[in-house]
Amino acid sequence: MASTILEMRDITKTFPGVKALSNVNLNVEEGEIHAIVGENGAGKSTLMKVLSGVYPYGSYDGKIVYRGEECRFAGIHDSERKGIVIIHQELALVPMLSITENIFLGNEHASHGVIDWNANRRRTSELLHKVGLSEDSNTLITNIGVGKQQLVEIAKALSKEVQLLILDEPTASLSEKDSQALLDLLVEFKKQGMTSILISHKLNEISRVADRVTVIRDGQTIETMARGDMSEDRIITSMVGRSLEDRYPPRDPKIGDVVFEVKNWSVYHPLHSERQVIKGIDLNVRKGEVVGIAGLMGAGRTEFAMSLFGRSYGRNITGEVLLNGKPVNLSSVGRAVDQGVAYVTEDRKTYGLNLIDHIKHNISLANMGGVSSRRGVINDLRELDVANDYRKATNIRASSVYQVTGNLSGGNQQKVVLSKWLFANPEVLILDEPTRGIDVGAKYEIYTIIARLAAEGKAIIVISSEMPELLGISDRIYVMNEGRMVGEMAASDASQEKIMRAIIRGEKAS
Ligand code: ADP
Ligand code: MG
Repeated sequence: MASTILEMRDITKTFPGVKALSNVNLNVEEGEIHAIVGENGAGKSTLMKVLSGVYPYGSYDGKIVYRGEECRFAGIHDSERKGIVIIHQELALVPMLSITENIFLGNEHASHGVIDWNANRRRTSELLHKVGLSEDSNTLITNIGVGKQQLVEIAKALSKEVQLLILDEPTASLSEKDSQALLDLLVEFKKQGMTSILISHKLNEISRVADRVTVIRDGQTIETMARGDMSEDRIITSMVGRSLEDRYPPRDPKIGDVVFEVKNWSVYHPLHSERQVIKGIDLNVRKGEVVGIAGLMGAGRTEFAMSLFGRSYGRNITGEVLLNGKPVNLSSVGRAVDQGVAYVTEDRKTYGLNLIDHIKHNISLANMGGVSSRRGVINDLRELDVANDYRKATNIRASSVYQVTGNLSGGNQQKVVLSKWLFANPEVLILDEPTRGIDVGAKYEIYTIIARLAAEGKAIIVISSEMPELLGISDRIYVMNEGRMVGEMAASDASQEKIMRAIIRGEKAS
């Protein structure tokens, strides 16, 4: 019979203006891998910071019982003394120090007040061995990748005699392979009797390693499921409070004439001039229509979109673009925007947003005229009104429009990008992977925005690698492969199998 190692009872934690946790309960059994899932902002990290003493006793309400004993941690040293070690979402290693120095930072082995670096290095090598790293202990952190850095963090936790290991979204920035290695390690530690709490919103990872999962939504515990009861459907439903069938908002498309048309579009590689990247593409989009472009990674979809939008990719571009039946010149980004064509990139961080600026400025960025007087002076109050309107309309979760966009979650950043283009009011909107890296609930909100844009009569192109998403939101789907259009179908007629078949047929033909 498993015994309870940790019990968090009725935990409530408030920040100025935000109730991050209200009466959260968590029970962890000795020796299990307990997953905590929830959308961004659900309160997962806050709960773990309460547990580890980052938020000390007195700054929250409720009770923490560890191994039968009530804990009142004043700081992380108190929790670490009990063997509770947390690895935060943001890695905390010092880049210019060695692995050894990072592991023993603050708790160096010392005898008579002198740090024994030889002993520390020896101990480091043992720890690195345990986490499967063959790096030299003198290697600087800056010289190893994030996957290995994460393992160093774990080695550091082991150096503290960890009994309950907490990993806050450890695989968020890791490659598939590094994530696998990390999860394998967790399973290995479990065999040795360690208990761990794993925060993740990657459901495949959870179903692979977790014994139980607790779902948190809006600062509340929704439920804890045992392994046998875990299904992706049930977890998603708990996370977002909505069932899988309703993953896409209902639409009643009113589709008009062709607004945007591309004819025989060809593009060559910017560096290898003999390589044709886009091969004679034809495409059209109607007013009020959502057109999806499906394809495998590397099919050329982003290159196609970027070459259209201000020729920001490729050379020797040939072909024609018509807007409302008339040829248009989109040869620079400025011209494209002036003509009413917008492109929202998959890489929000680099292209879509000014991360160090606040929400208000970012929203008016593509339409300064809309917040300026006739003489070009920015009207602050007007800008503020606009920002507040869009914040409300797109449900951007932030303390105010003066919050810096870099501090928002991915989903909320994407809503700011979309608000920016909503306000610029383009006729044609190209969305490249609009929901990549965004959690389930925020995805739904993005789909709602897309549906509303279409209802307003915009012509929308969505590039996505998630086929269910394309099937869920598009009216018509094009299939691209190796720079060519290899298929076109009404969404009502399309399926994942049909799309895949088009791709494979295209490969055979070329
Ligand atoms: P998760 O880890 O599940 O994504 P968090 O625990 O980080 O969520 O955040 C929960 C809520 O508390 C969010 O609304 C977040 O904005 C808020 N929050 C978290 N930390 C702070 C803080 N230091 N100050 C103010 N609000 C915070
Ligand atoms: Mg978090």
